[in-house]
Amino acid sequence: MRGQEAPRGVGPSVQFAVLASGSRGNATLVRGDGPGLVIDAGLGPRAMAERLESVGACWSDVAAVALTHTHRDHVDPGTIAELGRRGISLHCHESHRAVLARDPGFRQMDEAGLVSTYTGRPFLTSTGARVEPFPVEHDGGATFGFRIELSPARRTRAVSIGYLADTGCWSESMVDILTDVDVLGVEFNHDEALQKSSGRPWVLIRRNLGDRGHLSNRQGAELVEAVLRRSRRGAIRHIVLLHLSDQCNRPDLAIDAARGAVRAVGRRVVVHAASQNPAHPTLWIRPARRNALAAATVPGTSRFSSARISDRAALAGPGLFDGLDSGDSAGGS
Ligand SMILES: [Zn+2]
Repeated sequence: MRGQEAPRGVGPSVQFAVLASGSRGNATLVRGDGPGLVIDAGLGPRAMAERLESVGACWSDVAAVALTHTHRDHVDPGTIAELGRRGISLHCHESHRAVLARDPGFRQMDEAGLVSTYTGRPFLTSTGARVEPFPVEHDGGATFGFRIELSPARRTRAVSIGYLADTGCWSESMVDILTDVDVLGVEFNHDEALQKSSGRPWVLIRRNLGDRGHLSNRQGAELVEAVLRRSRRGAIRHIVLLHLSDQCNRPDLAIDAARGAVRAVGRRVVVHAASQNPAHPTLWIRPARRNALAAATVPGTSRFSSARISDRAALAGPGLFDGLDSGDSAGGS
């Protein structure tokens, strides 16, 4: 079964669907009119299939997976084996190989020619997506954010997506790469006060607050503001807050922080808090019209409706527990 097309009336669009975001698993689907790309594979194969189905897709709609890093909540061994069985290709950094090679499923994929390694340079996937990796600061070994360009159909302009999670700090070079994307996914991991009063071991708190841990709401908002100031008015239509900690954050706190940054720059952008479970948000993004970038394209209010939103952001509640990547363990993830 092929996945659903964009909703009627939306036109050729790129689907951006966060299947899961947080310490219990991360995966995001990006696809145009053919099989798509999944960023990270941190859910087990059954959960992956269920989440894909929940956003109108299935395994047949996945042609490639790109890994940001090898922490356990970003790469699941069972799903690696599933990728191999299904002939889905895997893009990982060359330094990820040493970690992944311990896994028999990965070795089988490698022997089958399904593994491609990226360096610091942009690469193409079989989905037609151009992926530009950029290094970030995290204690998970080599860790990357991505800028992804994908056309929703032939002879249509590309949609740009920025994806940055699992970094302890941000830099001007990251702002450069994320400038003028259509959808900006940024980590808003924790509220600093909740982190400090969490009662967790101090070594863990220090790790999460440190420059190689995770971005706080304050840091995420500063990054969002910097990217918006650098971007053309109307270029960034959606901001998706990623990797919220269950113990040390709340969606309303993260959304308030992001909206404050948007207000400070005087822009109109829809802010979504991604959730651990269920999949959320699912967006359908039309390429921006060349001369329409002067107008914010907020669905329902813009001159052209660029996306379908089922935004439960403000209602999204905390999950059950924080795992490694929100810093429950000094091992990190
Ligand atoms: Zn991590």
